Amino acid sequence: MGIWQKEIITILLLFFVVLIVGGMTGLFLPLLLLLTLFILIRHIYQIIRFEKWISMGGRGKYPKTTGVWEEIYYHVYRIKKNEKKRKKKLGKMIDQFRQSTEALPDAAVVLGAHDEIEWANKAAREVLGLKQSDKGQRIPNLIRFPEFIHYLKSRNYSEAVILPSPVDSRITLAVRIVTYGAGLRLLLAQDVTQLKKMERMRKDFVANVSHELRTPLTVLKGYLETLQDMDDRKSPLLTNSFQQMQGQTERMQHLVDDLLLLTRLETQQRQAQCINVPALLSQICKEGDTLENASNRRIELTLETDVHILGEEHELRSAFTNLLGNALKYSPEDSVVKVRWYQAIDDIVLDVEDQGEGIAAADIPRVTERFYRSEVKRNKKVSGTGLGLAIVKHVLMRHDARLNIVSELGKGSCFSCHFPIKRVCS
Ligand code: ADP
Repeated sequence: MGIWQKEIITILLLFFVVLIVGGMTGLFLPLLLLLTLFILIRHIYQIIRFEKWISMGGRGKYPKTTGVWEEIYYHVYRIKKNEKKRKKKLGKMIDQFRQSTEALPDAAVVLGAHDEIEWANKAAREVLGLKQSDKGQRIPNLIRFPEFIHYLKSRNYSEAVILPSPVDSRITLAVRIVTYGAGLRLLLAQDVTQLKKMERMRKDFVANVSHELRTPLTVLKGYLETLQDMDDRKSPLLTNSFQQMQGQTERMQHLVDDLLLLTRLETQQRQAQCINVPALLSQICKEGDTLENASNRRIELTLETDVHILGEEHELRSAFTNLLGNALKYSPEDSVVKVRWYQAIDDIVLDVEDQGEGIAAADIPRVTERFYRSEVKRNKKVSGTGLGLAIVKHVLMRHDARLNIVSELGKGSCFSCHFPIKRVCS
């Protein structure tokens, strides 16, 4: 039988007793009033006890009672017990999380909506110089590097910002912010000193080797030209050898030039000027047509806008020449290459479109890697260094622009350079 049914039956029994005794004595109404008062007082007493128990936090076992009140106490007691268990489990989880984040080799700082520090791990204290007492302080007041403050304000956290450690300038940090939850941000700082050192060594090595190779190559080329001039063409083997040697030295020179250009792109400061891109494109296309075949004009240039771009002329020239050169090189000699300069909704675009052999979908993400040349090209021995698109990518990066490649095997490719509107100048 349910507890409520028991309670109602007890009240009904009491009512019947009052009814019988009241009928016998003629005191039904006073007895009924007495019974009602008794029930009321009992419940008020229980409410007071319950309120007292709950106001003390419901700690410990509940007071001894009977009937429906025992059931109420029991339910509340059970809820509190479960809650306590859950709290303990959560606390344990938080402790484990704290311990693991404390042990992280990377610095981690939780930032609030107003850039204030909510929590920081041990590595953050060591490498960013934050103290326990800095909790609640705004992080731009503690890490004052302008590039960091700019990064924090930009709210564009897709890439990391490279900074020296505020504690030790010999340590290089890659600082990145990850957003999560409702407006919360996690700042992660990774020690990339070794990585940067290796990168610098790689750049220096490539720059030095390319530079050192330049002089011997020039000497070789000079002597080869002299030897070719002296060649009386009596020995086809000798003549062929000279031609091969000249071809290969030229290839090496292209490689060295491209490597040096890449090094310059990686290391040199920019000197941006307002570049007349339509004029530059007209010139490059004219040169392209001249180089190809005077009788067969392959390049179709469409200038839909007169927009000029803030940038470096020789860098842009090199990128555009590479794109056009590839389009001509990797498509049939009688096919058209379309070059189009136009304003799109969000940016200014240069399309270089060919009807050539196209690029396999798997190769597309890799073609901008240094020295990447698809196997087909290697086999066909189409000349090239594999550095052209790496140069294009770097030049575009330095102009806040991006390269988009759409290509289908057997149909052709379209390389698009997207320049942001903020680069437009007049
Ligand atoms: P290179 O042309 O000297 O080999 P690039 O870096 O310019 O080096 O190009 C890398 C590779 O991308 C090329 O070897 C070729 O496989 C592919 N590629 C580039 N442009 C095109 C194009 N317009 N059509 C087809 N394949 C292309």
